[in-house]
Amino acid sequence: MKMKFNLNEITRKSVAVLKPYSSARDEYVSDGSTMIFLDANENPFDNGVNRYPDPYQRSLKALLAKQKGVSEGNMLLGNGSDEVLDLIYRAFCEPNQDNVITLPPTYGMYKVLAGINAVENREVMLTTDFEPDVPAILEAVDEQTKLVFICSPNNPTGNSFKKESIEKLLESFNGLVVIDEAYIDFSNQESWLNNLKKFPNLIVTQTLSKAYGLAGIRLGVCYASEAIISILNKIKPPYNVNQLTQQKALQRVLNEDAVQQEVVQILEERSNLEKALQNLEFVEKLYPSDANFVLAKVDNADKRYQQLLDKHVVVRNRSTQPLCENTLRFTVGTPTENKALIAILKQL
Ligand SMILES: *Cc1c(COP(=O)(O)O)cnc(C)c1O
Repeated sequence: MKMKFNLNEITRKSVAVLKPYSSARDEYVSDGSTMIFLDANENPFDNGVNRYPDPYQRSLKALLAKQKGVSEGNMLLGNGSDEVLDLIYRAFCEPNQDNVITLPPTYGMYKVLAGINAVENREVMLTTDFEPDVPAILEAVDEQTKLVFICSPNNPTGNSFKKESIEKLLESFNGLVVIDEAYIDFSNQESWLNNLKKFPNLIVTQTLSKAYGLAGIRLGVCYASEAIISILNKIKPPYNVNQLTQQKALQRVLNEDAVQQEVVQILEERSNLEKALQNLEFVEKLYPSDANFVLAKVDNADKRYQQLLDKHVVVRNRSTQPLCENTLRFTVGTPTENKALIAILKQL
């Protein structure tokens, strides 16, 4: 293992030497004066979106930075977390040479992105109580290990990982530790965002797809040191977050109270759902959740899944995932939907 985290050493050579594409909006940055823009071959007739969007999404970043207590230089926005995660692979992993570590059962995209990028995915199973097996992870690391993916709260298990385990990885691993906090707004755990200064090898990803209710606009956020962000900025497509997404995200993030009210309702409904599931005969185990879904072990997942489908309720059968035999994952719906679900469950 390398002795110390060194960002230059883990950056792909082709990325390190890359001279990024310079867009019209890179070469002339507006100072707010009224100008005649004839530099980007756009159609000049105004329809709201005839101009290219801000490649660095400055207004949205300024607002998010204020709310999250980080600076704009620590942020990169992408077309969903999926793009952000892909950029991380492409910046740091040499195809057919490097490897990453993922911790199943977890979010499936880390593995798919490894495949797309021709990067070996070393899977180190969570323990039976769904915690990272830190000694086994460190054992799996070699010179070619660039990334470890930590999903906390974890999908599909719902739990947050112990702070000490994550801290140990950040301290002992000399590549990048990517903490996916897609569900952090439903959790009572503190975000790792507040540790960016302490750990130069920390990347935190968040999304507007879950608590913020904007899955349809595709907006993912990556928080990391300015050094890491500037490498990712070099390789991102110039206009990766479109104008409509930037506008919609801005409106929603400004409306913090509305988001918070929905989160409170979802947490209330999660608690109602947990109580109902606990009392069902065919539910064998309910896993504690720190997210907007609950995972339940049932007597026969295929049968219960089909019965729910027959009643027009679609849940996720997670039985194919390791350590998740006969489990169903229930997303928390509106109070009305949740009431209907509970009534149906009681009839099965
Ligand atoms: C839903 C989810 C995301 C969100 O991905 P987007 O591309 O931002 O919609 C990211 N990570 C995990 C673990 C998720 O469950």
